[in-house]
Amino acid sequence: MARTKVKGLDAIYGAIRDIPDFPKPGILFRDITPLLKEPKLLKRVIREMAGPFENRPVDSVLAIESRGFILGAPIALALGASLVLARKPGKLPWKRHRVEYELEYGTDAIEIHQDAIEAGDRVLVVDDVLATGGTAAAALRVVEQAGGRLVGVSFLIELTALEGRKRLGGTKVRSLLTYPRSA
Ligand code: AMP
Repeated sequence: MARTKVKGLDAIYGAIRDIPDFPKPGILFRDITPLLKEPKLLKRVIREMAGPFENRPVDSVLAIESRGFILGAPIALALGASLVLARKPGKLPWKRHRVEYELEYGTDAIEIHQDAIEAGDRVLVVDDVLATGGTAAAALRVVEQAGGRLVGVSFLIELTALEGRKRLGGTKVRSLLTYPRSA
């Protein structure tokens, strides 16, 4: 199970704030806002998240609402790729592709504009946190629905105990930080 091994990540781990019981009891929320206040650290994060995909052609970066947008835009710029927004229902104004996915209770969906990805485009998916993998798996399906070719998925944080990676099939998955923190 390949994970990016990057040295000297202490400062980046130090800029992630843990908030217990948010947004509901039992969830330990990984808050990236302290990282957003540190331009040098954020720049490094973008470099590290884009790095594993620099040697492959990437036409588009599909960023998942909403914290995925923050990371996805500079990663797209770093890779010279276009930016595709994957949004919750009701937000995108033009014709859409839509994929529904299961939540603990009920369902949710993500959408992209139909003209956001051209058939054959090579697409990298970006989000802040890989938890159960439900959201990212839906993003992979929407890429497929649009006729795109998946290059991989890049996360800032992976919550390994939830095994979300297993839901992402054989695609190349990279995460910069892991919790519990690996040695
Ligand atoms: P999942 O579909 O379970 O992989 O959840 C992924 C989405 O939920 C991501 O877009 C994250 O932003 C958010 N998320 C899930 N768990 C956490 C967490 N512990 N801390 C921060 N964000 C989370």
